Amino acid sequence: MPEKFDCIVVGAGPAGTACAYELAKAGVNVLLLERGEYPGSKNVMGGVLYRKMMEDIIPEFYKEAPLERPIVEQRFMLMDKESAVTFSYKGLEWGREPYNNFTVLRAKFDQWFAEKAVEQGALLVCETVALECIVEKGRVVGVRTDRPDGEVYADVVVLADGVNSLLAKQLGFHREWRPDEVALAVMEIVKLDKKVIEERFNLEPEQGCTIELLGDATKGILGTGFLYTNKDTLSIGVGTLLSGLIKHKIKPYELLEYVKNHPMIRPYLQGSEPVEYLAHLIPEGGYHSMPKVVGDGVGEGNRA
Ligand SMILES: Cc1cc2nc3c(=O)[nH]c(=O)nc-3n(C[C@H](O)[C@H](O)[C@H](O)COP(=O)(O)OP(=O)(O)OC[C@H]3O[C@@H](n4cnc5c(N)ncnc54)[C@H](O)[C@@H]3O)c2cc1C
Repeated sequence: MPEKFDCIVVGAGPAGTACAYELAKAGVNVLLLERGEYPGSKNVMGGVLYRKMMEDIIPEFYKEAPLERPIVEQRFMLMDKESAVTFSYKGLEWGREPYNNFTVLRAKFDQWFAEKAVEQGALLVCETVALECIVEKGRVVGVRTDRPDGEVYADVVVLADGVNSLLAKQLGFHREWRPDEVALAVMEIVKLDKKVIEERFNLEPEQGCTIELLGDATKGILGTGFLYTNKDTLSIGVGTLLSGLIKHKIKPYELLEYVKNHPMIRPYLQGSEPVEYLAHLIPEGGYHSMPKVVGDGVGEGNRA
Protein backbone atom coordinates (compact mmCIF):
# COMPACT_ATOMS: atom_id res chain seq x y z
CA MET A 1 0.00 0.00 0.00
CA PRO A 2 1.60 3.35 -0.98
CA GLU A 3 2.06 5.54 2.05
CA LYS A 4 0.71 8.87 0.88
CA PHE A 5 -2.46 9.62 -1.10
CA ASP A 6 -4.15 12.81 -2.17
CA CYS A 7 -7.26 11.64 -0.33
CA ILE A 8 -8.30 8.79 1.94
CA VAL A 9 -12.01 7.99 2.10
CA VAL A 10 -13.08 5.88 5.09
CA GLY A 11 -16.12 3.69 4.36
CA ALA A 12 -17.33 2.27 1.07
CA GLY A 13 -21.05 2.88 1.55
CA PRO A 14 -22.88 5.05 -1.00
CA ALA A 15 -21.42 8.28 0.44
CA GLY A 16 -17.79 7.14 0.49
CA THR A 17 -17.95 5.37 -2.85
CA ALA A 18 -19.61 8.35 -4.56
CA CYS A 19 -16.85 10.56 -3.16
CA ALA A 20 -14.08 8.18 -4.24
CA TYR A 21 -15.67 7.77 -7.68
CA GLU A 22 -15.85 11.53 -8.33
CA LEU A 23 -12.36 12.19 -7.02
CA ALA A 24 -10.75 9.35 -8.98
CA LYS A 25 -12.59 10.47 -12.11
CA ALA A 26 -11.07 13.93 -11.62
CA GLY A 27 -7.59 12.38 -11.46
CA VAL A 28 -7.17 12.49 -7.67
CA ASN A 29 -5.12 9.68 -6.11
CA VAL A 30 -7.67 8.20 -3.71
CA LEU A 31 -7.66 5.33 -1.23
CA LEU A 32 -11.06 3.90 -0.25
CA LEU A 33 -10.96 1.94 3.02
CA GLU A 34 -13.72 -0.50 3.96
CA ARG A 35 -13.89 -2.59 7.12
CA GLY A 36 -16.22 -5.20 5.63
CA GLU A 37 -15.14 -8.23 3.64
CA TYR A 38 -16.50 -6.37 0.61
CA PRO A 39 -18.48 -3.13 0.17
CA GLY A 40 -22.09 -3.79 1.13
CA SER A 41 -21.31 -6.77 3.34
CA LYS A 42 -22.22 -4.71 6.43
CA ASN A 43 -24.66 -2.23 4.95
CA VAL A 44 -28.37 -1.90 5.52
CA MET A 45 -31.15 -0.29 3.54
CA GLY A 46 -34.81 -1.08 2.99
CA GLY A 47 -33.89 -0.91 -0.56
CA VAL A 48 -35.20 2.01 -2.61
CA LEU A 49 -32.44 3.46 -4.75
CA TYR A 50 -33.42 6.89 -6.05
CA ARG A 51 -32.52 7.10 -9.74
CA LYS A 52 -31.99 10.85 -10.02
CA MET A 53 -29.21 11.06 -7.42
CA MET A 54 -27.49 7.98 -8.79
CA GLU A 55 -27.70 9.26 -12.35
CA ASP A 56 -25.97 12.46 -11.30
CA ILE A 57 -22.96 10.23 -10.69
CA ILE A 58 -23.29 7.48 -13.31
CA PRO A 59 -25.71 8.30 -16.15
CA GLU A 60 -27.75 5.28 -17.27
CA PHE A 61 -26.31 3.19 -14.42
CA TYR A 62 -29.46 1.06 -14.64
CA LYS A 63 -28.14 -0.55 -17.82
CA GLU A 64 -25.50 -2.44 -15.85
CA ALA A 65 -26.05 -2.10 -12.09
CA PRO A 66 -27.35 -5.12 -10.14
CA LEU A 67 -30.88 -3.84 -9.51
CA GLU A 68 -33.81 -5.84 -8.23
CA ARG A 69 -37.00 -4.34 -9.73
CA PRO A 70 -37.94 -0.94 -11.19
CA ILE A 71 -40.70 0.39 -8.93
CA VAL A 72 -43.91 0.94 -10.89
CA GLU A 73 -46.21 1.22 -7.89
CA GLN A 74 -45.86 3.00 -4.57
CA ARG A 75 -48.51 2.17 -1.97
CA PHE A 76 -49.09 3.85 1.37
CA MET A 77 -50.96 1.81 3.95
CA LEU A 78 -52.44 3.66 6.93
CA MET A 79 -52.95 0.88 9.40
CA ASP A 80 -55.09 0.17 12.41
CA LYS A 81 -55.12 -3.15 14.27
CA GLU A 82 -57.54 -4.91 11.94
CA SER A 83 -58.11 -2.40 9.17
CA ALA A 84 -56.17 -0.20 6.79
CA VAL A 85 -56.65 2.54 4.23
CA THR A 86 -54.30 2.07 1.28
CA PHE A 87 -53.68 4.54 -1.48
CA SER A 88 -51.20 4.18 -4.28
CA TYR A 89 -49.83 5.46 -7.54
CA LYS A 90 -49.10 2.98 -10.28
CA GLY A 91 -47.47 4.27 -13.44
CA LEU A 92 -46.31 1.94 -16.19
CA GLU A 93 -44.01 4.69 -17.48
CA TRP A 94 -41.93 4.01 -14.34
CA GLY A 95 -41.20 0.56 -15.77
CA ARG A 96 -39.54 1.96 -18.88
CA GLU A 97 -36.38 3.98 -19.46
CA PRO A 98 -35.38 6.27 -17.86
CA TYR A 99 -37.39 4.63 -15.03
CA ASN A 100 -38.17 6.18 -11.64
CA ASN A 101 -36.63 4.33 -8.69
CA PHE A 102 -35.43 0.78 -8.11
CA THR A 103 -35.26 -1.74 -5.31
CA VAL A 104 -31.74 -2.94 -4.59
CA LEU A 105 -29.94 -5.30 -2.23
CA ARG A 106 -27.00 -3.44 -0.73
CA ALA A 107 -24.72 -6.48 -0.58
CA LYS A 108 -24.81 -6.56 -4.39
CA PHE A 109 -25.26 -2.90 -5.23
CA ASP A 110 -22.50 -1.43 -3.02
CA GLN A 111 -20.03 -3.96 -4.38
CA TRP A 112 -20.83 -2.99 -7.97
CA PHE A 113 -20.67 0.74 -7.18
CA ALA A 114 -17.27 0.39 -5.49
CA GLU A 115 -15.99 -1.52 -8.53
CA LYS A 116 -17.00 1.50 -10.65
CA ALA A 117 -14.89 3.73 -8.39
CA VAL A 118 -12.00 1.31 -8.84
CA GLU A 119 -12.45 1.49 -12.63
CA GLN A 120 -12.03 5.26 -12.32
CA GLY A 121 -8.71 4.67 -10.54
CA ALA A 122 -9.56 4.54 -6.81
CA LEU A 123 -7.66 1.99 -4.72
CA LEU A 124 -10.17 -0.04 -2.69
CA VAL A 125 -8.84 -1.88 0.37
CA CYS A 126 -11.36 -4.04 2.24
CA GLU A 127 -11.17 -5.82 5.61
CA THR A 128 -9.38 -2.79 6.98
CA VAL A 129 -10.69 -0.80 9.93
CA ALA A 130 -9.66 2.85 10.24
CA LEU A 131 -9.03 3.07 13.98
CA GLU A 132 -8.32 6.76 14.31
CA CYS A 133 -7.22 9.85 12.44
CA ILE A 134 -3.57 10.80 12.64
CA VAL A 135 -3.46 14.41 13.79
CA GLU A 136 -0.32 16.55 13.54
CA LYS A 137 -0.28 20.15 14.76
CA GLY A 138 -4.09 20.22 14.79
CA ARG A 139 -4.38 18.95 11.22
CA VAL A 140 -5.62 15.51 10.14
CA VAL A 141 -2.86 14.03 7.96
CA GLY A 142 -3.92 10.39 7.67
CA VAL A 143 -5.49 7.41 9.38
CA ARG A 144 -4.22 4.58 11.53
CA THR A 145 -5.67 1.23 10.47
CA ASP A 146 -5.76 -2.20 12.08
CA ARG A 147 -3.22 -3.58 9.60
CA PRO A 148 0.41 -4.14 10.63
CA ASP A 149 2.27 -0.92 9.75
CA GLY A 150 -1.16 0.39 8.94
CA GLU A 151 -0.56 4.15 8.94
CA VAL A 152 -1.58 5.85 5.70
CA TYR A 153 -1.28 9.53 4.94
CA ALA A 154 -3.17 11.95 2.73
CA ASP A 155 -3.73 15.64 2.11
CA VAL A 156 -7.40 15.16 2.95
CA VAL A 157 -9.31 12.47 4.85
CA VAL A 158 -13.05 12.00 4.22
CA LEU A 159 -15.01 10.24 6.95
CA ALA A 160 -17.84 8.34 5.30
CA ASP A 161 -18.03 5.66 7.96
CA GLY A 162 -21.77 5.91 8.52
CA VAL A 163 -24.26 7.25 11.03
CA ASN A 164 -22.23 6.35 14.08
CA SER A 165 -18.87 7.70 12.91
CA LEU A 166 -16.39 6.76 15.60
CA LEU A 167 -13.65 8.73 13.87
CA ALA A 168 -15.75 11.89 13.80
CA LYS A 169 -16.53 11.36 17.49
CA GLN A 170 -12.82 11.05 18.28
CA LEU A 171 -12.23 14.39 16.55
CA GLY A 172 -14.96 15.99 18.63
CA PHE A 173 -17.22 16.56 15.57
CA HIS A 174 -19.81 14.30 16.90
CA ARG A 175 -21.25 13.49 20.31
CA GLU A 176 -23.29 10.40 21.18
CA TRP A 177 -26.71 10.65 19.53
CA ARG A 178 -29.60 11.30 21.87
CA PRO A 179 -32.35 8.63 21.62
CA ASP A 180 -34.69 11.19 20.01
CA GLU A 181 -32.14 11.94 17.27
CA VAL A 182 -31.88 8.45 15.79
CA ALA A 183 -34.25 5.77 14.61
CA LEU A 184 -33.43 2.13 15.09
CA ALA A 185 -34.56 0.15 12.06
CA VAL A 186 -34.73 -3.63 11.85
CA MET A 187 -35.51 -5.61 8.75
CA GLU A 188 -35.55 -9.04 7.23
CA ILE A 189 -35.01 -10.18 3.69
CA VAL A 190 -37.33 -13.13 3.09
CA LYS A 191 -37.21 -15.53 0.17
CA LEU A 192 -40.34 -16.06 -1.90
CA ASP A 193 -40.90 -17.48 -5.35
CA LYS A 194 -40.70 -14.80 -8.08
CA LYS A 195 -44.06 -15.79 -9.57
CA VAL A 196 -45.76 -15.72 -6.16
CA ILE A 197 -44.40 -12.19 -5.58
CA GLU A 198 -45.80 -11.07 -8.92
CA GLU A 199 -49.23 -12.60 -8.24
CA ARG A 200 -49.47 -11.23 -4.70
CA PHE A 201 -48.43 -7.70 -5.62
CA ASN A 202 -50.20 -7.63 -9.00
CA LEU A 203 -47.00 -7.20 -10.97
CA GLU A 204 -45.65 -8.27 -14.35
CA PRO A 205 -42.10 -9.67 -14.47
CA GLU A 206 -39.57 -6.80 -14.18
CA GLN A 207 -42.01 -4.62 -12.24
CA GLY A 208 -41.73 -3.76 -8.55
CA CYS A 209 -43.94 -2.39 -5.81
CA THR A 210 -43.18 -0.66 -2.53
CA ILE A 211 -45.56 -0.36 0.42
CA GLU A 212 -44.89 2.18 3.16
CA LEU A 213 -46.57 1.12 6.41
CA LEU A 214 -47.87 3.82 8.74
CA GLY A 215 -49.76 3.85 12.03
CA ASP A 216 -50.19 0.48 13.71
CA ALA A 217 -47.06 -0.87 11.96
CA THR A 218 -45.08 0.95 14.62
CA LYS A 219 -47.76 0.56 17.32
CA GLY A 220 -48.21 4.31 16.96
CA ILE A 221 -44.57 5.17 17.79
CA LEU A 222 -43.06 7.83 15.50
CA GLY A 223 -41.62 5.91 12.56
CA THR A 224 -42.60 3.77 9.59
CA GLY A 225 -42.52 0.25 8.29
CA PHE A 226 -41.90 -0.94 4.76
CA LEU A 227 -42.50 -3.91 2.50
CA TYR A 228 -40.56 -3.87 -0.78
CA THR A 229 -40.45 -6.35 -3.64
CA ASN A 230 -37.11 -7.63 -4.92
CA LYS A 231 -36.64 -10.23 -7.67
CA ASP A 232 -37.22 -13.31 -5.55
CA THR A 233 -37.16 -11.86 -2.07
CA LEU A 234 -39.12 -9.28 -0.09
CA SER A 235 -37.65 -6.69 2.26
CA ILE A 236 -39.81 -6.15 5.34
CA GLY A 237 -38.77 -3.75 8.08
CA VAL A 238 -39.74 -1.20 10.66
CA GLY A 239 -37.92 1.75 12.17
CA THR A 240 -38.88 4.05 15.03
CA LEU A 241 -37.15 6.67 17.11
CA LEU A 242 -34.99 5.01 19.73
CA SER A 243 -36.66 7.20 22.37
CA GLY A 244 -40.05 5.73 21.35
CA LEU A 245 -38.81 2.15 21.82
CA ILE A 246 -37.39 3.06 25.24
CA LYS A 247 -40.55 4.88 26.32
CA HIS A 248 -42.86 2.07 25.23
CA LYS A 249 -40.43 -0.65 26.44
CA ILE A 250 -40.59 -2.46 23.09
CA LYS A 251 -37.66 -4.40 21.69
CA PRO A 252 -37.01 -3.76 17.98
CA TYR A 253 -37.27 -7.44 17.00
CA GLU A 254 -40.63 -7.65 18.80
CA LEU A 255 -41.87 -4.75 16.67
CA LEU A 256 -40.66 -6.49 13.52
CA GLU A 257 -42.47 -9.70 14.53
CA TYR A 258 -45.58 -7.62 15.22
CA VAL A 259 -45.49 -6.12 11.71
CA LYS A 260 -44.79 -9.48 10.07
CA ASN A 261 -47.79 -10.98 11.86
CA HIS A 262 -50.12 -8.02 11.34
CA PRO A 263 -53.30 -9.27 9.61
CA MET A 264 -52.79 -6.72 6.81
CA ILE A 265 -49.20 -7.87 6.15
CA ARG A 266 -49.14 -11.58 7.01
CA PRO A 267 -50.78 -12.71 3.73
CA TYR A 268 -48.01 -11.06 1.68
CA LEU A 269 -45.34 -13.01 3.55
CA GLN A 270 -47.06 -16.39 3.73
CA GLY A 271 -44.69 -19.23 2.78
CA SER A 272 -41.58 -17.02 2.78
CA GLU A 273 -38.30 -17.95 4.44
CA PRO A 274 -36.08 -15.41 6.24
CA VAL A 275 -32.62 -15.27 4.66
CA GLU A 276 -31.13 -12.20 6.32
CA TYR A 277 -31.78 -10.14 9.48
CA LEU A 278 -30.38 -6.62 9.64
CA ALA A 279 -30.50 -3.70 12.06
CA HIS A 280 -29.06 -0.20 11.84
CA LEU A 281 -29.43 3.34 13.13
CA ILE A 282 -30.78 6.16 10.95
CA PRO A 283 -30.06 9.79 11.84
CA GLU A 284 -33.36 11.62 12.29
CA GLY A 285 -32.33 14.71 14.24
CA GLY A 286 -32.51 17.00 11.21
CA TYR A 287 -30.56 20.18 10.64
CA HIS A 288 -29.97 21.01 14.29
CA SER A 289 -28.28 17.70 15.05
CA MET A 290 -25.92 17.82 12.08
CA PRO A 291 -22.37 17.38 13.36
CA LYS A 292 -19.50 19.64 12.40
CA VAL A 293 -18.69 18.56 8.86
CA VAL A 294 -15.28 20.05 8.08
CA GLY A 295 -12.00 20.43 9.95
CA ASP A 296 -8.38 21.01 9.02
CA GLY A 297 -7.52 18.22 6.58
CA VAL A 298 -10.77 16.36 7.17
CA GLY A 299 -14.38 16.31 6.00
CA GLU A 300 -17.39 14.23 6.95
CA GLY A 301 -19.25 12.47 4.16
CA ASN A 302 -21.86 10.58 6.10
CA ARG A 303 -25.40 10.59 4.85
CA ALA A 304 -28.74 10.10 6.47
C1 LIG B 1 -33.61 -0.32 7.66
C2 LIG B 1 -33.16 0.86 6.80
C3 LIG B 1 -33.85 1.15 5.65
C4 LIG B 1 -33.42 2.18 4.80
N1 LIG B 1 -34.07 2.37 3.62
C5 LIG B 1 -33.58 3.25 2.74
C6 LIG B 1 -34.14 3.34 1.43
O1 LIG B 1 -35.05 2.59 1.08
N2 LIG B 1 -33.60 4.24 0.57
C7 LIG B 1 -32.55 5.07 0.94
O2 LIG B 1 -32.09 5.87 0.10
N3 LIG B 1 -32.00 5.00 2.18
C8 LIG B 1 -32.48 4.11 3.08
N4 LIG B 1 -31.90 4.00 4.30
C9 LIG B 1 -30.80 4.91 4.65
C10 LIG B 1 -29.49 4.45 3.99
O3 LIG B 1 -29.21 3.14 4.38
C11 LIG B 1 -28.35 5.39 4.40
O4 LIG B 1 -28.71 6.70 4.03
C12 LIG B 1 -27.04 5.05 3.73
O5 LIG B 1 -26.64 3.74 3.97
C13 LIG B 1 -25.96 5.99 4.24
O6 LIG B 1 -24.81 5.78 3.46
P1 LIG B 1 -23.35 6.04 4.04
O7 LIG B 1 -22.41 5.73 2.94
O8 LIG B 1 -23.28 7.37 4.71
O9 LIG B 1 -23.19 5.02 5.26
P2 LIG B 1 -23.20 3.43 5.28
O10 LIG B 1 -24.04 2.86 4.22
O11 LIG B 1 -23.49 3.07 6.70
O12 LIG B 1 -21.70 3.05 4.94
C14 LIG B 1 -20.63 3.25 5.84
C15 LIG B 1 -19.52 2.32 5.44
O13 LIG B 1 -18.38 2.58 6.26
C16 LIG B 1 -17.82 1.36 6.67
N5 LIG B 1 -17.09 1.65 7.91
C17 LIG B 1 -17.62 2.08 9.10
N6 LIG B 1 -16.65 2.31 9.99
C18 LIG B 1 -15.47 2.05 9.36
C19 LIG B 1 -14.10 2.12 9.76
N7 LIG B 1 -13.75 2.54 10.98
N8 LIG B 1 -13.15 1.75 8.86
C20 LIG B 1 -13.49 1.35 7.59
N9 LIG B 1 -14.77 1.27 7.17
C21 LIG B 1 -15.74 1.62 8.04
C22 LIG B 1 -19.01 0.43 6.86
O14 LIG B 1 -18.65 -0.93 6.83
C23 LIG B 1 -19.87 0.84 5.66
O15 LIG B 1 -19.54 0.12 4.50
C24 LIG B 1 -32.31 2.99 5.18
C25 LIG B 1 -31.63 2.71 6.37
C26 LIG B 1 -32.02 1.64 7.17
C27 LIG B 1 -31.24 1.34 8.40
